[in-house]
Parts: sequence; C-alpha cells; structure tokens
Amino acid sequence: MTFDLELVAKIIWLLFIVAWGVIRYRPNVKSRKTAKSVVSRTLKERFSMIISAVGLGYIPLVWIFTDFLDGYDYTQNTMLLVMGAGLLLVSLRLFRLTHKALGKMWSHSLDLREDHKLVTSGIYEKVRHPMYTAFWVWAIGAAFLLPNWVAGFSGLIGFGTLFFLRVGQEEDMMKAEFGDEYEAYMKRTKKVFPGIY
Ligand code: SAH
Repeated sequence: MTFDLELVAKIIWLLFIVAWGVIRYRPNVKSRKTAKSVVSRTLKERFSMIISAVGLGYIPLVWIFTDFLDGYDYTQNTMLLVMGAGLLLVSLRLFRLTHKALGKMWSHSLDLREDHKLVTSGIYEKVRHPMYTAFWVWAIGAAFLLPNWVAGFSGLIGFGTLFFLRVGQEEDMMKAEFGDEYEAYMKRTKKVFPGIY
C-alpha cells in the first residue's frame, strides 16, 4: 500500500493549526481582560503581523484548498515529512510552555499591561523570546513538511520579517520599562536559541 505523502502532509499541517488554536484560545480570552498601559499598533507593527500570518498560515491554506500553487509542488519523501511533523510537535510544546510562563503578560503585538511583570522563569530562564523560537520552529517544520516551494517557505519569509522588524524594538521597550532588571536578564540569556542566538 502506498500513502499519498502530500495528502498526509496537508492533514498533519491542518491538525497542527487546530492544536495551535486550542493552545492559544484560553490565553487569548484571559489576556484580553487585562488592561494595557502601552499599545503599539504602528504601521510597521501591523505590516509585520499581516505578513507573518500570510506566510505562516494563509499561503499554506491556499495551497491546501486550491490549485493555485500546484505548479510549485515537488515530490515529498518520508524522512522530510517525519522531520517536519516532529518539528511542528516541538513547536506546539514550546507554545504551551511560553503561554504557561507568560500568562496575562502575553499580547499579539508590542504592548505592556498595566502592572506588567517581567517574566524570567519557566522557559524564559533559557531564552528571552521562546515564543519566537516556537514560531521559528513552526516555519522550519513547515518548510520540511510541505512539498511545495511557495507554501513551504512562505512561513520563513513571513515570520522572519516580523521577527527582524520587531525583536529589537521589543527589547528596547522592555529596557525602557524594566531598566537594569532587563539588562541583567539580557546578560544571562540568548534571544532565541539557547547558547547560539
Ligand atoms: N518575545 C516574547 C514574547 C512575545 S509576546 C517571546 O518570544 O516569548 C509579546 C509581548 O510579550 C510583548 O508585547 C511584551 O509586553 C511581552 N513580553 C516579552 N518578553 C517578556 C518578558 N520576559 N516578561 C514579560 N513580558 C514579556
């Protein structure tokens, strides 16, 4: 019996999105109830969020449900598929851990809550931006999993754009808010990958 690996990849990706939505649902509802003291919805911030969502989510959806991108398909092999699926599982685990540690301090964009606390425990002991680690792992996992040049790599471009436009600004915001506490935290942690970056 042969499996249609492209179909398997599509199903795995859709299951991943559903699981991600489940992990994110409660933090979303809860954090909405906590008032914000600083809200940054600049044009740059909006652009980042849109391009990231298009790359990570909408382009793969277009590939899965339409035939627009079929010209960019390639033949999938089992090892790449398994590696991609494994990375998506790691990504889900990371999302779960970041939401657990960040709690109400989480937001989609660059905001600070009233009474914002700096979180440096749980997975935040290891790196300063574990949620961005989770998104990188998602983007890399999708590149392995989806046998299509456009849908597979759009996540890396989309999230990469958000990451590089945002992370410096986010750290500046945290430094302005938490001063020496954040500087000390920066000295003992890496940004995204423990020991590397
Ligand atoms: N960059 C982090 C958080 C992403 S959510 C990560 O990748 O895990 C974005 C919001 O989280 C920011 O608006 C900021 O208010 C908040 N934030 C980022 N790092 C934080 C920390 N160490 N403690 C508390 N809040 C933090």
